[in-house]
Amino acid sequence: MKGGKLIVFSAPSGSGKTTIVRHLLSQEHLNLAFSISATSREPRGDEKDGEDYYFIDLKEFKQHIKNEDFLEWEEVYRDNFYGTLKEEVERIWALGKNVIFDIDVVGGLRIKKKFPNKTLAVFVKPPSVDELKIRLKKRKTENDEKINMRIAKASVEMATAPQFDFIIENDTLEVAFKEAEVLVYNHIQKSSSEEE
Ligand code: 5GP
Repeated sequence: MKGGKLIVFSAPSGSGKTTIVRHLLSQEHLNLAFSISATSREPRGDEKDGEDYYFIDLKEFKQHIKNEDFLEWEEVYRDNFYGTLKEEVERIWALGKNVIFDIDVVGGLRIKKKFPNKTLAVFVKPPSVDELKIRLKKRKTENDEKINMRIAKASVEMATAPQFDFIIENDTLEVAFKEAEVLVYNHIQKSSSEEE
């Protein structure tokens, strides 16, 4: 696969990684485009198909797995599948842009392993698991059962942080924004001669 760079932001749900990714997308000089994942979960709030996710049903998702259409996929929560379609990355590279991913830790590390030089893998660390719970409750997009499921997973996810290229501690958003900008800028400046 030829094309631009890959930038992965992974973190437990509620750590603020989506806010950081949105900020980076607003920085035109970074020339980024968001990798829209496919998911079998239902849309939440005002999420739009083809913008936040490609919302597809479980049957269609499983067909894509069979066809080997995914660069990576995960059953992130039970019966909630998420995956990056190879076609999506090709689409963004064809636009001459770098791809930014907001995906779970397993998927993020899988992309890093497939494209070690092309990929910058960043882990966004929330201040604490308690803080995570507060944020998820404030968001009011999930019921208590779903929040507890996400919290249980968060502890496991936190343990993978050392496998990433960099860890950003998201205590103060403005500081996290700046750190993320510098990391991405440095990565996209790297010569492509060392790419796979
Ligand atoms: P949410 O339901 O909150 O939108 O996402 C749940 C988790 O799935 C988040 O950690 C999100 O980053 C992750 N996720 C979203 N898209 C993908 C994907 O394409 N692949 C993988 N492995 N995880 C994803």
